[in-house]
Amino acid sequence: MADTITLPRTLFSGEHDQFRDQVRRFVAQEIVPHHRQWERAQKVPRELWQKAGSLGLLCCTVPEAWGGAGADYLYSAIVLEELASAHAPGPGFGIHSEMAVPYIVNFGSDAQRKQWLPQLVSGEVIAGIAMTEPSAGSDLHAIRCSARPEGDGWRLSGQKVFISNGQLADVLIVAARIAGSEKLSLFIVDAASPGVARGRNLEKLGNHAQDTSELFFSDVRLPDDSLLGEAGQGFKYLMHGLARERLTICVNCQARAEAVLRDTVAYVGDREVFGAPLSQMQNTRFVLGAVKADLIAGRALVDRLLLDHMDGRLDSATAAAAKLWVTEALGRTVDACLQLHGGWGYMREYAIARAYADARAERIAGGSSEVMKEIVARTLW
Ligand SMILES: Cc1cc2nc3c(=O)[nH]c(=O)nc-3n(C[C@H](O)[C@H](O)[C@H](O)COP(=O)(O)OP(=O)(O)OC[C@H]3O[C@@H](n4cnc5c(N)ncnc54)[C@H](O)[C@@H]3O)c2cc1C
Repeated sequence: MADTITLPRTLFSGEHDQFRDQVRRFVAQEIVPHHRQWERAQKVPRELWQKAGSLGLLCCTVPEAWGGAGADYLYSAIVLEELASAHAPGPGFGIHSEMAVPYIVNFGSDAQRKQWLPQLVSGEVIAGIAMTEPSAGSDLHAIRCSARPEGDGWRLSGQKVFISNGQLADVLIVAARIAGSEKLSLFIVDAASPGVARGRNLEKLGNHAQDTSELFFSDVRLPDDSLLGEAGQGFKYLMHGLARERLTICVNCQARAEAVLRDTVAYVGDREVFGAPLSQMQNTRFVLGAVKADLIAGRALVDRLLLDHMDGRLDSATAAAAKLWVTEALGRTVDACLQLHGGWGYMREYAIARAYADARAERIAGGSSEVMKEIVARTLW
């Protein structure tokens, strides 16, 4: 990657580099050879999670007290980047490790952490985060899923949609409204509880190896200690979690765009048109020069955010601005690079075709570009 994006990265130590080598080998041996088959199956096998967990590739930042390595977020970033660099978006490790599990780490009780975290780190248990409903996506205030107090616990009812890891997840962080309250709360839901049903594994435009599901909750009996943190604080917790979620999307999307540029530079060097390599055409050079300029800006931004996050200084508006920039730049990159592949760019046997389809979700999931603009605009007045 460094030969395509020539911006030096000074964030990583020798230990990070060793970890990257290990992750790269794992991705090359355990993921890349099977990824096309998993795309047909529309999910990855559970065993992959356990293999990744046994090598310390899941939940890198979970403290040692709860079974994790207590590593810094750069280790998480390395896992995300290596999957992205190999065009392997299927394993939902980022959703598990960086989007769902942090809610338990940050807001869970010691009993909840003890119950769930060691198994989430080892990959025996897979996690998802369930906010979106058929009538509530951008507008989380419209969530209808409800939990009513009953005895020493709760009864959860409602429906979720577009839930990543939804077919595989054993535990879900569910956003719901406690009956009689306007405010959101978060619950830890064991997916094996009676009344939890998985709906369709939705057929998507791209990212075919990732399971994305409907979920139904019919009077699901939840024990008292399934409430995460304090009642009514769910929106606040989500706003906190979404900054890390959006950073995670940025790390992943920036690396995907760099991989697409790397592959396209190689392709246009080999492909001859009108008796000369495509790379010698002025249009190709202008297009890829502009792509590289976009990605240099994105790389500087993402690396800055990585440091801010580790210093505890990443605010939600900056994370939203970065998510807007990086995912829009990924969109521009895949479109321009597919065009340079001609007809082959439209064939799924080429990584660029899959990368193009996979990329389209990124301007929507985790908060759409329009919502990101609104969050940024609020800081102006
Ligand atoms: C592949 C994929 C994976 C996902 N994974 C998960 C997951 O794991 N967990 C989860 O909870 N959700 C998940 N989602 C859901 C995702 O977060 C939502 O799709 C997203 O927040 C948008 O919500 P929506 O689909 O309901 O669109 P809507 O909210 O209906 O938006 C429709 C359009 O209206 C625009 N819009 C909305 N509000 C405004 C506004 N204020 N101003 C201007 N325009 C606006 C939007 O930008 C969009 O263009 C996933 C989605 C996808 C596609």
